[in-house]
Amino acid sequence: MSEYQLGLDYPRSQDQQDELAQYRNRFHLPKDEKGNELIYFCGNSLGLQPRSTKSYIDQELEDWANLGVEGHLEAKNPWLPYHEFLTESMSKLVGAKPIEVVVMNTLTANLHFMMVSFYQPTAKRYKILIESDAFPSDKYAVESQLRHHGFDDKDGLILWKPPEGEELLKYEDLEALLDRSGHEIALILIGNVNYYTGQYFDMKRITALGHRYGCVVGFDCAHGAGNVQLNLHDSNADFAIWCSYKYLNSGPGSLAGCFVHERHAHNRDLNRFTGWWSHNKETRFNMRHEFDLLPGAEGWQLSNPPILSMAAIKASLDIFNEAGIEKLCKKSKKLTGYFEFLLNQLNDDRIRIITPENPDERGCQLSIQVKNADKQLHNELTLAGVISDWREPDVIRCAPVPLYNSFEDVFQMVERLKNVLNAS
Ligand SMILES: *Cc1c(COP(=O)(O)O)cnc(C)c1O
Repeated sequence: MSEYQLGLDYPRSQDQQDELAQYRNRFHLPKDEKGNELIYFCGNSLGLQPRSTKSYIDQELEDWANLGVEGHLEAKNPWLPYHEFLTESMSKLVGAKPIEVVVMNTLTANLHFMMVSFYQPTAKRYKILIESDAFPSDKYAVESQLRHHGFDDKDGLILWKPPEGEELLKYEDLEALLDRSGHEIALILIGNVNYYTGQYFDMKRITALGHRYGCVVGFDCAHGAGNVQLNLHDSNADFAIWCSYKYLNSGPGSLAGCFVHERHAHNRDLNRFTGWWSHNKETRFNMRHEFDLLPGAEGWQLSNPPILSMAAIKASLDIFNEAGIEKLCKKSKKLTGYFEFLLNQLNDDRIRIITPENPDERGCQLSIQVKNADKQLHNELTLAGVISDWREPDVIRCAPVPLYNSFEDVFQMVERLKNVLNAS
């Protein structure tokens, strides 16, 4: 017997019992032209705007208007240390210590800055291992680093591929790859939740494996942060990066996160690019000093950061702090389990879920593969008021997000999908 039930009574009673249900009202839900709320399943791509974001940004605009340059020290939230107001909540969210985390730059930029330090190829050990379905930006970044160091980007790239005809990656294949080529691999970079399949990877296991072969191990947590409970410190990974505009609801193009493990915090010999923001805070404005590196992840900052974007991140992190990532993940498992149950009940062999069935091997996203797909099904779903995300060649990605999606959203989404499938 499934814990889930068909019909509308079940989702309604679940929503009534859900202690996180009120958080939906803290967000702006997109509407169609007639003013009807859309069913938003795209938090994996761009999270919704918290209603509080505007007042957080307005505060900084007001302080800027009233104080000008004095705002650096005199603003209600002084701009000079503003990034520090994010560190504690952000580090809690990704399972790290404050010294290991900083919010700065954007995601791909942070990936490059991390590779400046953690991709140190030699003539014998220069290859980089990524997932075969890595996010394109990560792949391009890695290839350009190979070229930057004078290597061939085809020869230098090793892909962790799923078995023929399958979508999901197997740890055994990674073990075999490392057994064969581990001595040539300088860096392993894995998306901790794969953006395409939604498969979650055990960072601790992959890090231990990579370290055993002498590789540096980093993770792209763009689809993990705010979606699953991360354990960056315990995973022992060397570095990680993530963005704040997907599950972290901080607005389009907002700043990214960066993790550097504590064991590297005081290593002044690590190669890196620096700027005045990586310099000791006490003497930064003397402007004449010999360079004096900040310890920890903060030591990778370059510039004074965009405060308006940080204000949006603060608004979002305050909500996460209040709701608690443990509770959110608990609801997420149930919401996505219910979604999976309803999809399976459709019994339609034109669709297939490629995301792992095991709730511990995924976040909230389900990737639905459509047989003989063209984009038509996705377009019709959009016309039916469901915002989801289409990935070539044949996958619709749907993410019921526990902060603002309800069990009834999931019910309505599957009803509409059923109608669209039946009409086609
Ligand atoms: C969303 C995403 C990106 C996008 O990179 P930006 O630098 O933020 O534009 C890169 N990598 C992964 C894995 C992503 O999920």
